[in-house]
Amino acid sequence: MPEVHAILSASSSKRWLNCTPSARLEQNFPNESSVYAEEGTAAHELGEYKLRKYLHERVKRPTSEYEDEEMEANTDIYAEFIISTVERIKETCPHPLVMVEERLDYSYLVPSGFGTGDCVIIADGTLYVMDYKNGKGVFVNCDHNPQMMLYALGAYHAYGYLYSIKKVSMTIIQPRLENISTFECSVEELLDWAETYVRPRAKLAFEGKGEQVPGDWCRFCRARTSCKACADEAMALVKEEFLDLDAGVLEDETEETDATASFDPDISVPTFKSPALLSKTDIEKMLPTLNRIESWIEAIFAYVSSEAINHGVSWDGYKVVEGRSKRQFLDTKSVVAAAEKAGYTDIYKTELISLTAFEKLMGKKKFQEILGEYVVKPPGKLALVPDSDPREAVDLQTAEDEFAVLD
Ligand code: SF4
Repeated sequence: MPEVHAILSASSSKRWLNCTPSARLEQNFPNESSVYAEEGTAAHELGEYKLRKYLHERVKRPTSEYEDEEMEANTDIYAEFIISTVERIKETCPHPLVMVEERLDYSYLVPSGFGTGDCVIIADGTLYVMDYKNGKGVFVNCDHNPQMMLYALGAYHAYGYLYSIKKVSMTIIQPRLENISTFECSVEELLDWAETYVRPRAKLAFEGKGEQVPGDWCRFCRARTSCKACADEAMALVKEEFLDLDAGVLEDETEETDATASFDPDISVPTFKSPALLSKTDIEKMLPTLNRIESWIEAIFAYVSSEAINHGVSWDGYKVVEGRSKRQFLDTKSVVAAAEKAGYTDIYKTELISLTAFEKLMGKKKFQEILGEYVVKPPGKLALVPDSDPREAVDLQTAEDEFAVLD
């Protein structure tokens, strides 16, 4: 669940662990809820309901304006993964401890630190921590994921003295990106990370001390649009990679002269470096920073636009205008009545229900029996991502063949 109270929340831990002053800097900016966050909350509630139902708890199905077939299918994937894990565990441990939406307090380590674990299981010496991610914008890797490790620390702190826990298994379930990734470590490794890395950095973060360090963790930082470190990084890159390139820029500090001006032997003539193009290595060096700067620039524009449109802030040299809009019917009932009165009756189109709706209508088994042979899963759109992305690289030859078959 989204954590709204902890300053050093688990969900923002990658940020405050890497850039310790960020948590306090963020407090200067409102924590505005977004439709994505609301949608995420609705999906979490639906997933929670499905798990509690499996655990035979008395629960009422939540309702939300965001609920649709996709959310139903995604929360099914989440619930089914956990249910199958619990069922597998039960083969050797008949009564595992299963907790849903458990508050996990790690404040013994991080001042005021707590979070909510979507699902925590303890069985056979292993602590399992599962987290549902509804987003599809950023692939969340579970490997040494600090949010998951803080949840695990909170759970271990609460239950470690009751159960003999030797191993921790953390899983992120992010169905919209087909991402189910698990990271396992020993309790010793977890505790060592907590004491040697987290504790000192959490102290700095709570006090708002340390250095501002830009990185991929800046993406959701509320201070980003006013962050000097981000601006400095972007400007340094622009200066180093563009202005200093050998691409026909002035070599010395001399002012550029007008070629048509009359010749004066006392005025030094500027010299130019020979024209050049960026090499592949130049571009490779820039890419990681450019990715970050691109999203930083987007955030700045979103921020200034929102300030102008929603709060009437005026930015020198900019104005608010109305965009193009599409014509639409105001009252569809009246449209139907008027069209039919005029003799136009062929005004509806029939559409086949979606694959997910069929699956819901028939049930998964029947769907597989009746329609399974007609289901194909086309390859996803190709995208260039950093090496750190945990998805496997595509074999371009095979991908080409798959697209050719589909064509
Ligand atoms: S935007 Fe600035 S303050 Fe926020 S995490 Fe990045 S560097 Fe730190």
